[in-house]
Amino acid sequence: MKKIVLLTAVLGVMFCFAGACPAAAATAAVKLPGNSGPWRVDTQQPYLYEDVVLDCLGLAERYPGIIAADSLCTTFDGRQVPHLLIGDVKAAKHVLIMGAIHAREYMTSQLVMKQTIAFLEALESGTASYKGVSLAELMQDTAIHVLPLANPDGVTISQLGPQALHTEAARRKVNEIAALDGGGSAQYYLRWKANAEGVDLNRQFDGRWAEYKDPAGHPSSDHYKGTSPLCTTEAAAFAELTLRYPFKRTISYHEQGGVIYWYFGQQGSLLDETKAFADAISAVTGYPEDANYQKLDPAGYKDWAIEKLGIPSLTVEVGSGTCPLPASQLPDMILRNKDVWMETLFSLH
Ligand SMILES: [Zn+2]
Repeated sequence: MKKIVLLTAVLGVMFCFAGACPAAAATAAVKLPGNSGPWRVDTQQPYLYEDVVLDCLGLAERYPGIIAADSLCTTFDGRQVPHLLIGDVKAAKHVLIMGAIHAREYMTSQLVMKQTIAFLEALESGTASYKGVSLAELMQDTAIHVLPLANPDGVTISQLGPQALHTEAARRKVNEIAALDGGGSAQYYLRWKANAEGVDLNRQFDGRWAEYKDPAGHPSSDHYKGTSPLCTTEAAAFAELTLRYPFKRTISYHEQGGVIYWYFGQQGSLLDETKAFADAISAVTGYPEDANYQKLDPAGYKDWAIEKLGIPSLTVEVGSGTCPLPASQLPDMILRNKDVWMETLFSLH
């Protein structure tokens, strides 16, 4: 009973924000994607905010009692940050999968949603197993949190330009940032990485944040770390979520490079456990590992999760070339990452 109430409440929230967009409202008024598909994620075009929201709604409708959808927070430009929960919220083991915290890396949003759908289909089949262990057993006392679109404002800027922002305040802010950066071209917006306030959401976490000297020093399309850790609504919400549940593994998907980052100076059993997790994900994806963290910018979500919370956490960089990546890369990306969720659960088994 409680689950049904929760799901109904959650759907109410999601309908509200879907309704805020005229295009989304028109679609929602007819029929949400459900049994019949295809899901909006199956597009050759950029996977827009409204598409992600409607797919989240559709999944909650199609798989009631298995997945719940809600919003973590409201962004500067009034968008919701979708959050999906698969499994029992009271489970002892929680896993986080995050996509598109960096705007121009929005194909990771598509990857994560494809993984979510494949996983739900496997769960529903009742017969799926991995390395000889049934999926039901792998999911025992385990919950998976999915953030398919961690930075919806920034992704909108990269996909459609600042004119697609909802509010005059956000458009004005982005114009100010462009002036500070000496940018403003179509290419400049296409390459946008931050949120709509010009803060790089993955330089917002207290994993050596104070040591990080960002190259901009002011709100920017990328790399600006903000005035303090978690000063953005989005990053604060990710931290709050992470602190609320007993997370045992996190994976943050980024582009590009085809590499796994797992080391942040941790030692002892945390070092061993994170290395073993990275080895396992490297084995199934074919992505090599890179442990030279001192050459990388700190203050990322993974850095904080490892250093401050002791959670074995990975940054997985998918694809190759210049972001935003072409749609032609998605099939290979999905194929390479098809066992990542199962392997993550297996590592906790
Ligand atoms: Zn990134």
